[in-house]
Amino acid sequence: MRFDPLPAEDCLIDSHCHLDAPELAPDVDGVAARARAAGVGQLLVPAVTAGTFDDVLAMRERYGCWIAFGLHPIYLDRHLDEHLAQLDEYLARHAPAAVGEIGLDFYLPELDPARQEALLVEQLKLARKHGLPVVLHVRRSADRVLKHLHRMRHRPCLQRQRAAGASLHPPGLQAGLRRRDDL
Ligand SMILES: [Zn+2]
Repeated sequence: MRFDPLPAEDCLIDSHCHLDAPELAPDVDGVAARARAAGVGQLLVPAVTAGTFDDVLAMRERYGCWIAFGLHPIYLDRHLDEHLAQLDEYLARHAPAAVGEIGLDFYLPELDPARQEALLVEQLKLARKHGLPVVLHVRRSADRVLKHLHRMRHRPCLQRQRAAGASLHPPGLQAGLRRRDDL
């Protein structure tokens, strides 16, 4: 089973699906097939660490899905400065659909905010350099993320919002952010 690289305009597109997650490995073919059968014409698989860049590449090879490369804020302790250079190289060599998953998570107290912001800024610079949109993880940090997006004049973006039913605040909508379930 493969997703169409250029899906029909009226199909569903899952803008954020961690198909490479280890929890799905025992039945990943089944997960992809059920998504396809339910009307999902394409899905975007974002990486979360440099160690998963090759995993999402393998997903594209296997299923023809769209992919993104990025350093996720929740995995802050796994990111090294040299991973930014590696990200730059993967963005140049592998034609992903976006940079992601990146962002800020101010909900988990163990994640150093300054380090998160430094990584976000560098990844937004890479997204601009390569002309790519970003897939965002935003938790209790919408104002700070928007500040960086404004400063970088970066749009469009996709925001991951965890709280079910929560609405994106108006400045976010003005900045071009869209909730994944709006798409
Ligand atoms: Zn995610």
